[in-house]
Amino acid sequence: MTIGKFHESLMNRDFSAAEALRETYREIDARDGEIGAYLSLARDGAMEAAEAVDDRIAHGERMPLLSGIPLGIKDNIMLEGEPCTAGSKILEGYVAAYDATAIAKLKAEGAVCVGKTNMDEFGMGSSTENSAFGKTRNPRDLSKVPGGSSGGSAAAVAGNMAIAALGSDTGGSIRQPADFCGVVGLKPTYGAISRYGLIPLASSLDTVGIEAKTVDDAAIVFGAISGKDPHDATSVEKTYGKELYESRPERIRAMTIGLPKEYFGAGIAKEIGERMDGVIAAFKGMDIRVKEVSLPHTAYALSAYYIIMPAEASANLARFDGIRYGTGGGGSASIKERYVDAKSRGFGEEAKRRIMLGTYVLSSGYYDAYYAKAQKVRTLIANDFKAAFAEVDALLTPVSPTLPFAFGEKTDDPLAMYLSDIFTITANLAGIPALVVPPGFQLIGKPFHEHDLLGLGREYERAMAS
Ligand code: GLN
Repeated sequence: MTIGKFHESLMNRDFSAAEALRETYREIDARDGEIGAYLSLARDGAMEAAEAVDDRIAHGERMPLLSGIPLGIKDNIMLEGEPCTAGSKILEGYVAAYDATAIAKLKAEGAVCVGKTNMDEFGMGSSTENSAFGKTRNPRDLSKVPGGSSGGSAAAVAGNMAIAALGSDTGGSIRQPADFCGVVGLKPTYGAISRYGLIPLASSLDTVGIEAKTVDDAAIVFGAISGKDPHDATSVEKTYGKELYESRPERIRAMTIGLPKEYFGAGIAKEIGERMDGVIAAFKGMDIRVKEVSLPHTAYALSAYYIIMPAEASANLARFDGIRYGTGGGGSASIKERYVDAKSRGFGEEAKRRIMLGTYVLSSGYYDAYYAKAQKVRTLIANDFKAAFAEVDALLTPVSPTLPFAFGEKTDDPLAMYLSDIFTITANLAGIPALVVPPGFQLIGKPFHEHDLLGLGREYERAMAS
């Protein structure tokens, strides 16, 4: 069910918010043992929120669109009174002391947060296999990974265990799981949605974003949670209006889409190439102009990302000492021994790998050679996009170079796992928005032009439905 349909039924009193929530939990109880989308369920808080919505409806109130909507929340986003582990043992037992701004805004609209979804530890990974708390399976094919790091959020939506979900995207973590699970994924412009209450991974790349069933649903959630927040100095005022929700087809059909030639080269699986051919033909069939463009520094993006990202992650992860919650034991050990013990046991392999990489590239003697250079490359990549957007309104690219892979296929080879991020990390480096639409393509847009991407995605959905 979509948000629009749910809202209509709720207002018609076809069902109550409490009934819908009970049905959601029935679905979770029946299916999630197998899928593993959720790490914890917020049954009490969710039921209270649903009953509050029903109360207001009983009093004849006209409710916001998100009222009663069951949502999944990635476990690195704070939901007050509920566990928030970021998929890491070092945060086991931690209970969020406050709501993230995105959550507070959702709650203000009457949305119902049903639980916290599984993820790669702190968001590091592309398959959710780096979670300290077990696997999430892809609802479309249980033998395959759901993608990552927001694999639990995508699986919750794809598996009908939430209507939409919040995730986070630092290098593709919303978009690649959306692609793998067959849902819509929106990574906003850096600054469009407040990061307050998101456990930071790489602060200059992190964004809060959305997994949803349709482009309309993603637009509704985005509209509700975006905007300036005094708690996040990098957040900005909303820049869009009604066009977010209702794109005028004439405006969309007057757009030109660019195909960056560097994203269609060797290394793409045959199935992905064929899928993209179909998508390009569909856009052409809608009379949207398509032309080739170039983003010449693409080849350096992965190297730059895997320097900047671990550098920032190593700084952000330094705060976790495992002393008040998580792995830290008491005893008579010295403070240093306790730290070493808590961090050794609390962080998984990928987190340790990135802490080492990150501290190395920031260390004296290597800073200029690696970190400073990567920052320059980042600027070149952002400039590539600026130049392309002088010619076209949006870019169309694949999301992942491959179809969903099997469990264990890439866990022994971190580089192979990193390579699956090749088409998604550039939008984070440039801070620009990107939208993934089934059957799995990515639209990349100008800063704060989410409405353009949503408009194009919506037109594509319409063309496919007709
Ligand atoms: N796969 C990317 C990484 O491992 C995605 C990170 C993210 O977006 N959280 O860094």
